[in-house]
Amino acid sequence: MNVYLDHAASSTPRPQAREAFLMHLDAANGSAAHQRGQNTRAVIEEAREQVAHAIGATPHEVVFTSGGTEADNLAIKGIIWAAREATRTTPHLIISATEHAAVKDPALWLAERGDITLDLVGCRPDGCIEVEQVLALVRPNTALVSVMMANNELGSINPIAELAGALAARGIPLHTDAVQAIATLDVNVARDQISALAASGHKFGAPQGVGFAVLRRDLPVVPLQHGGGQDRGVRSGTFATALIASVAAALRETVADRPRVNETLTRLSDTLAQQLTALSGVRRNGPTDEAKRLASHVHLSIDGVASELLGLRLDALGIATSGGAACSSGATTASHVLTAAGITGTPLRLSLGWDTTDEDVDTAITQLATTIAALQANQGAWV
Ligand code: PLP
Repeated sequence: MNVYLDHAASSTPRPQAREAFLMHLDAANGSAAHQRGQNTRAVIEEAREQVAHAIGATPHEVVFTSGGTEADNLAIKGIIWAAREATRTTPHLIISATEHAAVKDPALWLAERGDITLDLVGCRPDGCIEVEQVLALVRPNTALVSVMMANNELGSINPIAELAGALAARGIPLHTDAVQAIATLDVNVARDQISALAASGHKFGAPQGVGFAVLRRDLPVVPLQHGGGQDRGVRSGTFATALIASVAAALRETVADRPRVNETLTRLSDTLAQQLTALSGVRRNGPTDEAKRLASHVHLSIDGVASELLGLRLDALGIATSGGAACSSGATTASHVLTAAGITGTPLRLSLGWDTTDEDVDTAITQLATTIAALQANQGAWV
């Protein structure tokens, strides 16, 4: 038995992404003047055009990175430091309380250094942020707002187009971490007035170690890496041709396959949630409105079971899931996201991907039902 329900951590590579990766493994350096270098450059620029086309950007706005963490860091630090340089004052940054560490930690680090003043905006119990609450925090020196498109734990979708529009009217750029969103949501930076965006290939069928940032043309960004001046000087380093070709292929396939994936995952995640919440002590978290949650995510709170034990038992049965962060004593601590949303109980995230099948879900339901009931019956026996 082998059921993989942790696609939010890393999804299965698409066959087209594997093929593109292998095809370009022996690429020459894309900055070299010789013919082989120029051929490589053509592959990179074609990939850039395809990525740009898929998300409503211009090719010039796409910067290839090593993944979501780098894209988030580049946007947050790069835009903030550019604002500091331009104004010679301390800029104000607003982020949501549910941001991934790839946004939260650089923001806290900048605040600790005294480079910014920082405000965190809270979320509703379903994990979504409210536009009005963000706007209430805006100050004359707000240089950037960063709110994720969809949350990695709860799958809650934020009102990014509405927020970006309201901020654009005030002349404030919005950065959005779209790492979890790209697999199932229609992302378009121009339509939604998004100034900066982070994406990660391994969440939508590319290999690990590649992603991209979108940085609006007129948005000043201080580079974090200095060197050969690749990617308009914003991100120096030899182009990772095979990974870049691969992430473009995965994105192309993701966009083409999205209607099918959304329909299938909505049905499968509903089945999972319905069957599992019928068990005693199991609740579904996140938005109740289907339009406000990712079709790929089911987040549950389970009473009367220890998170670590649940994860281990499921893993031993060949069911890969994700729980809460466990501290060294074995007691589970709620993540900052669940704390912000006020969610209690042992957390379990089941995340589905483009290749999840009905059989996967049926097996997971059977095994989860047995395991949860057994652990609830034995509660206290292991601690
Ligand atoms: N942002 C979100 C919302 C994520 O879920 C993740 C990864 O889990 C990241 C950023 C980091 O992406 P990467 O693993 O590509 O660095």
